[in-house]
Amino acid sequence: MSLSLHSVQILTLATLLAMPFVRAEVNVVEKVDTDVYFHEGDLGRYGHCNNGWIIFSDYVLMIDANFPSGAQVVLPKIKAMTDKPIKFAFDTHHHGDHAYGNQVMHEAGATIVGHSGVLTEMKKYETNYFTGKGSGPWESAAKNRKDVAASKLRPPSLLFEQKMAFDDGTHRVELLHFGVAHTHGDGWAWLPKERVIFTGDACVNGPYNYVGDGNIHEWIKTLDKVIALKPLKVCPAHGPSGGPEMLTNQQQYFKSLLAEVKKLKVAGKTAAEVQAASDTIKETLRRDERIAHYIGSMFFEAQVEKVWRELKGAAFPPKKQAQVQPAKLKTKTLVMR
Ligand SMILES: [Zn+2]
Repeated sequence: MSLSLHSVQILTLATLLAMPFVRAEVNVVEKVDTDVYFHEGDLGRYGHCNNGWIIFSDYVLMIDANFPSGAQVVLPKIKAMTDKPIKFAFDTHHHGDHAYGNQVMHEAGATIVGHSGVLTEMKKYETNYFTGKGSGPWESAAKNRKDVAASKLRPPSLLFEQKMAFDDGTHRVELLHFGVAHTHGDGWAWLPKERVIFTGDACVNGPYNYVGDGNIHEWIKTLDKVIALKPLKVCPAHGPSGGPEMLTNQQQYFKSLLAEVKKLKVAGKTAAEVQAASDTIKETLRRDERIAHYIGSMFFEAQVEKVWRELKGAAFPPKKQAQVQPAKLKTKTLVMR
């Protein structure tokens, strides 16, 4: 997930805690299969993403590097389980809650792996790191997060285009790229023997679909390719793990959203009218129990606008200041990027 308002959006803790699907089971190691683990991050308090890890015969592959503080939560849990070195950390995409812990993982001995698009996206957005100019999302996050301020950006250095495999004869993990979805550099970790897939933010389990860096039309098609793998277990980057229905539900959410916005496009509505219809669309989608849990207050209008823009609609008119500012609550703020 990435939360973005001019690349960074400040959220109140209360806003995040108001999200459904922020569960008490966070920070608990879940055994998915032999040597395969899932760990739901504490999104509500720290903005942490979920992690996975696979223990091979002579090393560990970790899925996502999390924020630095998230990596520091998970590292001791892996080390308590095995003496094998964590040799690889796989960034499912470039967002800070998945990749800003890269330096922590590097210091722990890991090489950072990612689809080439992760590096491309970092080069596009992390202007300060790559050009020494401007203030990118890292600098914005560092202003609000001590863990980011105390670390540094480290892009992935081991890249793949379509596929990279880790195989020790017992376990096999394929890192795969199926096309644009949540970002232009989404990687998936597929375990063909166990039929387990780690999805990054390209499939989440709850109202966590940030759509600013991807393409919803492409995302729907990309999910088709993942569904065709026929996984039995799905480990998302936000929200609890689940079965294969998570992939079809996530896809259905976007299909239904697209269908509703298309109706307005065909009816000749203006951007302002579509914006005003967001709550009505939300209530229509909420009636479908397969997808209701994907609807949240934080991202919904941005999702409607994204689909609308992809349908060649004009940008939504800016809202009055009072409407775009998150509630000014006297509480800790989190920046996630
Ligand atoms: Zn993300």
